[in-house]
Amino acid sequence: MTVQELIDLLQEHDPEAEVRIMSQDGWPFECSIFGVTTREELADDDCECGRLLGRPHDDGCPAAEGQEQEDGMEGRDVFLVEGQQERYGSKSAWIAAQRC
Ligand SMILES: [Zn+2]
Repeated sequence: MTVQELIDLLQEHDPEAEVRIMSQDGWPFECSIFGVTTREELADDDCECGRLLGRPHDDGCPAAEGQEQEDGMEGRDVFLVEGQQERYGSKSAWIAAQRC
């Protein structure tokens, strides 16, 4: 799912509603969202530019270039980072979400 596809899906909902993640279809939990980051912002052993965590690598840094080469992985990939498990969830979420 792309960022634009997610934006389109979210636009159908109340902008003041809380967003949660329904996690693990085998044993569902409702989780808060801790935050949003990108693959480029994650720590990487190949980094030579000494960038700060949460910032992009400099141009030419092997860590930034390597991220573009692995199958299906790009530095611009966006992660919704799971927060607290708030309560048990429902397997019905996976059925309901297919209708989108
Ligand atoms: Zn770097």
